[in-house]
Amino acid sequence: MSASPGRRVLLAAPRGYCAGVDRAVIAVEKALEQYGAPVYVRHEIVHNKYVVQTLEKKGAIFVEQTEEVPPGNIVMFSAHGVAPVVHEEAERGKLATIDATCPLVTKVHKEAVRFANEDYDILLIGHEGHEEVIGTSGEAPDHIQLVDGPGDVAKVEVRDPSKVVWLSQTTLSVDETMETVDALKDKFPQLISPPSDDICYATQNRQLAVKQMGAESDLVIVVGSRNSSNSKRLVEVAKIAGARAAYLVDFADEIDEAWLEGVNTVGVTSGASVPEVLVEQVLEFLSRRGFEDVEIVKAAEESITFSLPKELRRDLREEA
Ligand code: SF4
Repeated sequence: MSASPGRRVLLAAPRGYCAGVDRAVIAVEKALEQYGAPVYVRHEIVHNKYVVQTLEKKGAIFVEQTEEVPPGNIVMFSAHGVAPVVHEEAERGKLATIDATCPLVTKVHKEAVRFANEDYDILLIGHEGHEEVIGTSGEAPDHIQLVDGPGDVAKVEVRDPSKVVWLSQTTLSVDETMETVDALKDKFPQLISPPSDDICYATQNRQLAVKQMGAESDLVIVVGSRNSSNSKRLVEVAKIAGARAAYLVDFADEIDEAWLEGVNTVGVTSGASVPEVLVEQVLEFLSRRGFEDVEIVKAAEESITFSLPKELRRDLREEA
């Protein structure tokens, strides 16, 4: 198909893998090399269908509950983090553990423990049922209550309005979270904020890029899975930024040709758990339909990396 004049792609940067996802995926691969298959992983290591399927082919077994892992095996905890009770379950089940919780999630866990020890009421802004929220809440269940957006603020009750702090899930919409915080501050003027942002650098940067790109795009395609919180937020941010339509797809073949009708500019990005190969397939799909010009919309530079989980580093070192 020949290119139609004016058809272009705006490609967001940064996009795709963040440091926490990169570390978690490499941890599973290294564990498979080091200990051999199978390696059990509690919950999807990261919320991406392709990544999970690829690791399954290499010998990883994904389970939802610790009890599903036969005694004597290794279980890895996913990037989203787990509650302390899950570590206890693993110990009872005589399992060796590798903790691939993203260090930026661990930071929020530590904040929760510290504020609970100081007897604060902790208002955790996040999405009900998300693994990260379950893990963080489990650090101090008696002190934490979940606030799932501004609509939840009216029902929040605290013991002492002068001792309240908010924390958040790492993968929320920055703007919606600030709306929730403002509503909480109206209700509890002495509410204190976490010492540093809980919404992680990768979430913020990907949203910033989509804001810039979405404003100039007729259509935005976000590559990511439906259970990926940060990917779903990118769709919302794109629409708010001005894109006429925005869709989430796991794979290029999910793109509906009808979405491209009357479209000159397509914005493309991907969630923090998405390998670049899936974006390349979307670009190829678009190129075959006349969207050959690709312009990068760069919102930030990223250079953060995290070292592998300590249990794995120890074993790899001993082996060397
Ligand atoms: Fe860590 Fe942020 Fe990536 Fe989540 S999105 S794994 S918090 S870097």
